[in-house]
Amino acid sequence: MADSIQSDPHGFKRRGVLFVLSSPSGAGKSTIARKLLAADPTLQMSVSATTRPIRPGEADGKDYHFVDLERFRAMVADNEFLEWAHVFGHRYGTPRAPVEAMLKSGRDVLFDIDWQGAQQLYQIAGGDVVRVFILPPSLEELESRLRGRATDSEEVIQGRMSRAAGEIAHWDGYDYVLCNDDAESCFLKVKTILESERMKRSRQTGLIGFIRKLGKAVPDSD
Ligand code: 5GP
Repeated sequence: MADSIQSDPHGFKRRGVLFVLSSPSGAGKSTIARKLLAADPTLQMSVSATTRPIRPGEADGKDYHFVDLERFRAMVADNEFLEWAHVFGHRYGTPRAPVEAMLKSGRDVLFDIDWQGAQQLYQIAGGDVVRVFILPPSLEELESRLRGRATDSEEVIQGRMSRAAGEIAHWDGYDYVLCNDDAESCFLKVKTILESERMKRSRQTGLIGFIRKLGKAVPDSD
């Protein structure tokens, strides 16, 4: 993983955040990701590669890089993924080079990946990774959201529902767990987590210089 130093207007320097959002499919994570990206230009999305078919309304290169199995296997063989996993019978992976480039250019990176990806990223980048898990208010609500989406067949919906419990079982591999009752308030909570994580002292690398400058400005007390 490339080193990254993000700098704010005060000259504070810190390591980049790899911000992971996971949830069972349909728990509202994509909406929250979209809102986060719109609210924060210093955050950029990692676009995964997948072998699953493109859905109506999706764009190649924007939602995913849609690739065939042969291409995906070649990317694995060439070590082009930071992590990859089987999800719902297809393969999904995070291309390494764009993430390293984003971090290098001073951005934080947002990942919409499952628990297997979160685990692998954590093994690679440890404390630079922040893992957030979003729960639906109930399984009934989850099913109704999946149906409302109207992009998947009945079989796919049933498959996603039966896997939701399995995904929820991995909640304890995350740093933060939230319930998405309401998209706006859940988004605000996730935004707060990101902002707080950015200020964590363990991430700051240039504090000493700033504190010294402050120290000079403060008159000596007796
Ligand atoms: P969907 O097909 O509904 O877009 O995504 C299915 C699941 O795959 C979601 O839980 C999503 O977070 C996960 N996923 C998407 N991209 C990646 C990836 O690059 N790596 C891993 N491990 N999971 C991913």
